[in-house]
Amino acid sequence: MLVDYLKAKSLLERYGIRSVRSRYVKSADEAIDFAGRKRIVLKALSEKELHKSKAGLVRLDLGNAAEIKKAYNELESRSAGLGQYKIIAQEMAQSGAEVILGGREDSQFGKLVLIGLGGIYVEAFRDFALRTCPITRYDAAEMLGQLRACEVITHHGKATAMVERLLLQISALLERNRWIKELDLNPVILREDSYDVVDIRVLR
Ligand code: ADP
Ligand code: MG
Repeated sequence: MLVDYLKAKSLLERYGIRSVRSRYVKSADEAIDFAGRKRIVLKALSEKELHKSKAGLVRLDLGNAAEIKKAYNELESRSAGLGQYKIIAQEMAQSGAEVILGGREDSQFGKLVLIGLGGIYVEAFRDFALRTCPITRYDAAEMLGQLRACEVITHHGKATAMVERLLLQISALLERNRWIKELDLNPVILREDSYDVVDIRVLR
């Protein structure tokens, strides 16, 4: 079962993992109000559709009231067949390298932590690293080293430390919340000295 986005967001926060400012909105005006002068993203969240962008349920980089209104209305009509859904407004993150961080419950190995490089890399090249929980700093470093495309991260000294820390935080979260079947931060957008988690999926 999909855990409510904002609940998952605050769970992550308790383990030191920040994610982009987000709020449910019930009208285009609420979304416009949330945006203020910033660029935002609108998404429709529903248990029925876990691949939002494929289903046209993600609208990026909305910069003014007219754009927001149009996107909001489009999302509402696209969501009609989804049953229960919520529209969430988020701050638009700056661009960077996209990595996937997460974990899941495995029947054989118990809790696993995972890192992969961007959606297409994981799917097309199966470029990811897995470890059983709990992991140490050394495991986290080894996981990064194991990625074929690891230069995307290790290229920037600070990003390496940031990702290693995130892996440890995820490991701690999974250890202490045994009910979690799957956790996906996909993507985490990495820049030289900061990151943004823009999509959180927790299944129980
Ligand atoms: P899904 O994985 O369900 O298709 P996401 O929420 O991950 O939906 O959005 C799809 C893509 O849109 C992300 O991989 C990312 O590239 C981009 N994106 C999503 N949210 C934001 C955001 N708040 N800021 C910047 N880019 C975003
Ligand atoms: Mg995603």
